Amino acid sequence: MTTVVIAPQRPVSLWPAAHAADARRPRSQQTKLGASDTVCARRAGYLLHGRTPTDTGEKRKAILGTWLHAGILDAAREEYGWLVERRVEDETVRGHIDAVQLDSTTAARLPKRLRPTLPAEQTTVEDVKTKGTYQWDNVLRYGASEAEMRQVYLYADLLAAEGFARVSGQRQLARIGPVPVARIRFRFINRDNGDDHVQEIAYEADRARRARWWVQQVRAAATPEELPRTFQGPGLSAICDHCPFRTACWGPLATGRSPQSRLVHDDEERATALAEYVAVTEQIKPLKERQKFLRAQLDGSEPGTYGGNVLGWSGGNPTKVDDVEAMVGLYRRAGLEVPMAPDTGAMKARLKEVGIPVPTRLDLDRRTAVSINVTASKQS
Ligand code: SF4
Repeated sequence: MTTVVIAPQRPVSLWPAAHAADARRPRSQQTKLGASDTVCARRAGYLLHGRTPTDTGEKRKAILGTWLHAGILDAAREEYGWLVERRVEDETVRGHIDAVQLDSTTAARLPKRLRPTLPAEQTTVEDVKTKGTYQWDNVLRYGASEAEMRQVYLYADLLAAEGFARVSGQRQLARIGPVPVARIRFRFINRDNGDDHVQEIAYEADRARRARWWVQQVRAAATPEELPRTFQGPGLSAICDHCPFRTACWGPLATGRSPQSRLVHDDEERATALAEYVAVTEQIKPLKERQKFLRAQLDGSEPGTYGGNVLGWSGGNPTKVDDVEAMVGLYRRAGLEVPMAPDTGAMKARLKEVGIPVPTRLDLDRRTAVSINVTASKQS
């Protein structure tokens, strides 16, 4: 009997499928401005003007966030009866609110099956954000960013002004009309360890107006290029690194210079940038010195919680180096020839000893880091 051996196939990556499914999601195709597109003014402009994205970018983290998001919201809907993923819109902007928790008075206007298991004390618009561990400290210290606030204020304002959108699956919700919002809640979930952090703020009409004004400015621009770049560009901002309009916004990256260098066009602009560079360096210097001093003061302190901060230490471990003797032993036992490479260190020392310069050559594939040196000019 002949046995057929089937070679094991490499497991197929699921990421191409995940990216394709993500690209088909309605949010990925929309050209009308969505509240979640309001992170950067220039990017919102590209979307609003229907420009074709120039870059694909890495989306794995965002896709994981979407999946996690869907699971959490499903659980909240099934267990607590929260209204999740509900659409709100007017003629200029639209979006999907992650969760709305109605107060008892508003909930009573809905058919019983749509009422929450437990009404909220105040009508609350909730936004779920997933974050990685490296962003977690910022989440705990500063809470939602300006862009995240703007997005949720737009949702809340649409709900307060227009109510739920009249679309299939939520017509009964739309019938109750505008829903005054009293509270905004961010629920941050750590993608890596499941920690969560809740930030609640009272709804402020003034902030909602500011968010609306921001959208008006974007809509009023004749071209996306008229709009400011909200972030500092590729290499300095992770949002730009993964932006689908990165090349449209900053031009091609592989030119050997940072993309931000295109912002300086002539010597006058160069002089302005240089003067600001010097001013900023002067401002930072005392802070850096103070930071070094404080670090020295804390040296040797036990890890733990002190006031509002947690102190921890990392590093300080012995580093691993190649054990050449052990390698030679292993080679000899295996009957392999031990390579005899020239001892560069000893050769250089010997040449120096006899006064002969050590020969060098240029390695064109390796470059030294480019440092900026700025000194005062004679005319200043
Ligand atoms: S590259 Fe950055 S600044 Fe430009 S549109 Fe995208 S997010 Fe905005």
